[in-house]
Parts: sequence; C-alpha cells; structure tokens
Amino acid sequence: MIISKRTSQISPSPTLSITAKAKKMQAEGINVIGFGAGEPDFDTPVNIKEAAKKAIDKGFTKYTPTAGTKELKDAVSAKFKKDNNLEYLPDEIIVSCGAKHSIFNIIITLCNEGDEVILPSPYWVSYPEMVKVAGAKTVMLNTTKESDFKITPEQLEKAIRPNTKLLILNSPSNPTGMVYGESELEELSKIISKAGIYCISDEIYEKVIYDQQHVSIASLGEDIKKRTIVVNGVSKAYAMTGWRIGYAAGPKEIIQAMSNLQDHSTSNPTSIAQAASVEALIGSQDDLEKMVKEFKKRRDFMVDRVNAITGISTINPQGAFYCWVDISGILQKSANGKKIMNSMDLTDALLNGAQVAVVPGGVFGDDNYIRLSYATSMENIIEGLNRIERFISQ
Ligand code: PMP
Ligand code: GLU
Repeated sequence: MIISKRTSQISPSPTLSITAKAKKMQAEGINVIGFGAGEPDFDTPVNIKEAAKKAIDKGFTKYTPTAGTKELKDAVSAKFKKDNNLEYLPDEIIVSCGAKHSIFNIIITLCNEGDEVILPSPYWVSYPEMVKVAGAKTVMLNTTKESDFKITPEQLEKAIRPNTKLLILNSPSNPTGMVYGESELEELSKIISKAGIYCISDEIYEKVIYDQQHVSIASLGEDIKKRTIVVNGVSKAYAMTGWRIGYAAGPKEIIQAMSNLQDHSTSNPTSIAQAASVEALIGSQDDLEKMVKEFKKRRDFMVDRVNAITGISTINPQGAFYCWVDISGILQKSANGKKIMNSMDLTDALLNGAQVAVVPGGVFGDDNYIRLSYATSMENIIEGLNRIERFISQ
C-alpha cells in the first residue's frame, strides 16, 4: 500500500467537491443553479483589497512570525475585546491558513491516539476527518428538529468518559444555522469545566447572524475560558474565502504548541493576506452589514419558499447561510424510474433531473436532510427553488 493508513482513511471534502462540480458544469455552459457553495457570493470589499495592494507595493512579501504579524494579532485581540468581551494577550493568539487550519492544528495538538472527541451531529464535514488524522475517535451526539439541533447538558454529561478530551461546538452552525443562547452555553460550560475536558468553539459564522446575539462560550467566566480555544476567521464575514486567514485564541501553552506545529508545516500564513485581514477587522464594517442584510433577505425568502413546497420543510436558521431542509417526506418516492432512498439519491436526481446542485445531508450526519446554501443571488434562489418544486411535484 503506497498511501499511509492515516491518510487513506480520509475522504475528499464533499462540500468542496460539490461546489467544484457545479462550477465546472457552469463553465461548460450547463445552466446549473448552485446551492452547494459554502462561501459568500460577494466580492471581497474594496478597502480590504486596497490594503493587500498596498502591502505588495510596500514589499511586505516576506516571511512573518509563524503565528501571525503583531498588527494582525493586535487587530484580533481588539476584535475579541470589542465583540466578545474577551481579553487575549498576543501569545494567546495564533493566525493560521484559514479557520480550517486552526481547527486542524488544535485537534492534532490536543488529541492522543484513542482519545475521544464529542461532536454534536449534524456536524461540519471536516471535523470527523481531522479527528481521524489525529488517531482519535469521534463520539457523535445526535440532535433533532425537536431540540433545535442543539445538544442538551444531559446529553453532554452522559457522553463524557475517561478518554474524552474535547467537545467541538459550532455556533452559528453549519449546516443547521442554529445558534446557542447564553443560558444554554452556561449549562454546557459548567459540565466542561467539571469534567476537565477542552472545548473548540468554532465561531466562523459569528457575524452572519440574524435575529439573535452571538455569545462566545469562552466569555462566560475564567474557568471555561481556560478550557476553550475559540476559532474564527475572515472567510465568511468578509467574503475572503480565498485569502486563507483564520485564527485561534486560547491558553498560551496550547497556542505555543500549535505554533510549533505550524513552524514545521506551513510557517506563517501569507503576509499579504494578513495585511488585508488587519483592514478587514479594524477597517470599515459597512460592507459586512450590507452582506448580512442581503443574506437575511434571502434567508427569509428561501425559508418561506421551501416551506411552501409539498414534501419538504425547513426550520428558520438563525445564522450562517444555509437552509437545512427536511426531505423525509419524499424519501422512498421514485424519480425517473429510480427510487430515492437517501439524501445522496436526491442530490443526484436534482443535479441530473433539475440542474440544481445541493449538498446531501448524509455527509453532515443526517440522511433525512439536504443543505441549501443561499450564498447565491436572489435570482438564482428563485429559479433554483422553482426547479426543485417542479421536480418534486413530478
Ligand atoms: N468551520 C466551519 C463550520 C465552516 O463551515 C468552515 C468553512 N469552510 C470553516 C470552519 C473553515 O473556514 P476557512 O478555513 O475558510 O476559514
Ligand atoms: N465550509 C464550507 C461548506 O461547508 C466550505 C467548504 C468547506 O471548506 O467545507 O460548504
């Protein structure tokens, strides 16, 4: 076997590959409506692009400290203070090549072979794969519509065993869009502290939130702050998915170990993208506000439209840019002579029969759902949902 055991157990990212497939079909002239994309359809704001151009012209094109420039760490620190009332010193912050990279580094840094990582399901596709790379084991906690797709304190308490190392929380959530409130996080934080486990709080969708206030679990007291590594980044809030800047903040000892790992893998994230991210975090937030307003308009439309289609339904997501659509009403039905048994069958049928790309819920841990991203124009949303309705009614 050429490929190592560690790497051969990892599958390609289904969210990335579906988005790539839809983009390729569009480039070939096929009229596909893409509801797969996990990235804002807006351009990166002009002030951020200008900051990057300035950095190039100034010759800011060399290695920086591995864990990020002083300017960016200061900007991250100011962001945490302003948005989350959290104080972090520079050596409690690390900048990485995207939030994905930060999460990967944390898992590799904290998990030993055989450790258990508790993961609420549905979950973002990359978490279980990263846990596998670390040689650790994922323990899923199932959530349902009835529990608003959030875990309960009882569920968490019951799942903790001697080998439990970590809980991964993601609020606002990809794929469900659900957001944990302060009192819910308080309950969870007590259990985390009591058990002496750690928590990754993936807050990458913090700014893409509609009817609720975002709360970081780390802000709920010194005890939980010591056990939490907060992850965030510029990809989603500032339409900067391609720039690859994410960051993590937490106990110095953990951040230092992550930095050592980064020293020998990627070194620093791109200097130019770091300069642009300073502007994203401390410059004008006007474009962010406009984007979130537009996402909310699309969310409201999509939720109403999906719920008007017989056979499918959705909860009202409070954040991120995804609709988590219950398809259980149409499973076991036939399309073009083929029975739809699960979310993958429906995804294939929609792509081939209606030219609509969606992400099957199975890849997030629930086969009774599909995920529709509304990070696409209103025009596409209207057309795509018309196609889905026509397809289902047949
Ligand atoms: N966490 C979640 C829940 C996500 O959906 C994404 C999107 N890719 C990431 C982390 C990583 O974001 P990025 O690496 O682009 O900063
Ligand atoms: N996080 C986004 C998604 O869920 C982008 C793709 C990825 O990195 O998984 O679609």
